[in-house]
Amino acid sequence: MKVFKFGGASIKDANSIRNMTDIVAEYPDDALVIVVSAIGKTTNKLEQIFFKKLKDEDFSSDLDELTEYHSIIIQDLFKEPIDIDLKPVNELFTDLKSILASNVKNRNGAQLYDTIVSFGELLSSTIIGLYMQGNGMKINWVDARSLIKTDPTYREGKIDWEITESLIKETLTEKLSESNFITQGFIGSTKDGHTTTLGREGSDFTAAIFGASLDAESVTIWKDVPGILNADPKRFEKTQLYSNLSYQEAAEMTYYGASVIHPKTIKPLANKNISLLVRSFKSPSMKGTEISKGDIHDLPPTYVVKDKQCLVSFGVKDLTFINEKNLSIIFHILDKLNIKINMMQNSAVSLTVCIDYREDKVNKLLQTLENDFKILYNQDLQLITIKNYTQEAVNRVSANRDILVEQRTRHTYQIVVK
Ligand code: ASP
Ligand code: MG
Repeated sequence: MKVFKFGGASIKDANSIRNMTDIVAEYPDDALVIVVSAIGKTTNKLEQIFFKKLKDEDFSSDLDELTEYHSIIIQDLFKEPIDIDLKPVNELFTDLKSILASNVKNRNGAQLYDTIVSFGELLSSTIIGLYMQGNGMKINWVDARSLIKTDPTYREGKIDWEITESLIKETLTEKLSESNFITQGFIGSTKDGHTTTLGREGSDFTAAIFGASLDAESVTIWKDVPGILNADPKRFEKTQLYSNLSYQEAAEMTYYGASVIHPKTIKPLANKNISLLVRSFKSPSMKGTEISKGDIHDLPPTYVVKDKQCLVSFGVKDLTFINEKNLSIIFHILDKLNIKINMMQNSAVSLTVCIDYREDKVNKLLQTLENDFKILYNQDLQLITIKNYTQEAVNRVSANRDILVEQRTRHTYQIVVK
């Protein structure tokens, strides 16, 4: 069996959904689990709605836009008089609206976030499943929340692998000989059935969870780029396509912020030696990039740019130096708040970390540590990493930049810039 994952851009309108359906139809002999993200930028919209709901602001125009966006796609896809009952889609909209109409004053914000944003994937998978069935394809819809079990860390659910793997195996293995399955990326649920999400852009990870649990032949991520490139073509000219990459190399690229695949995707597949293919839904006949075991040498420099970065410096308050005790206090809190350090540097009197800017987390961090340290921070920064750097590559990214931090190791060059 194989796992196919289609992200938001590959299903952003009716034509894109027809295109992804055509791709699936090219694999009649394979048992497929198809993992889909929310349509287009639906998750962003749902996030906005959630934040407005939380602040008791009017979100009705956002909700109308979201409904309208899906309705246009539905009308286009189902315009032929096919014998399909759209009740499941309508029910989802009714559920979403009733949650948004309810009183949420005393509810856990992060839990409510997961409940609301999960509708993006529930809608896309339902619409696409019905469309495929309407076109005579043998496909069943399965609720990922009944298979992917997480702890109650809302917005970043941690997978309970043992239960998840056995649920997926038990539920799907045999049935896959009769039909394909479509399911949602990004979502899961706790043991008591509360919806959780796996972190933004988590649908790739979902595909890997299904792939690893079912011992898939391969997992394919269908993207709007030809495969993995040595830089983001939206930011750099003359990019190069990798036809093969090792798990290790690809994992490191995602660690530095290469957004082409979610960082958690590689490990579960590498553990089971399952190839991860990154291919273009625009040119489905091209082979794309295969990520698998092995060493691939002499790679060109890889450029990774991470936006929305924030530099936080923790300075000692008295005339002492920063020591291991201070460091352990800071690291402990970062770990507790689930904040990942993208880069760090220390001086005699301070530690500076570069982290993703998320308002709620940064505020918590400052609140927790402001008694112990003098804290300064800058936001709206970029972290630029070059793996396998050359001097020429360094010049390319650092010329005429306002550099706040610069670091070089044997293979990796990093700067934080305005
Ligand atoms: N729809 C979710 C998001 O936009 C998950 C994903 O696309 O992978 O973050
Ligand atoms: Mg996406």
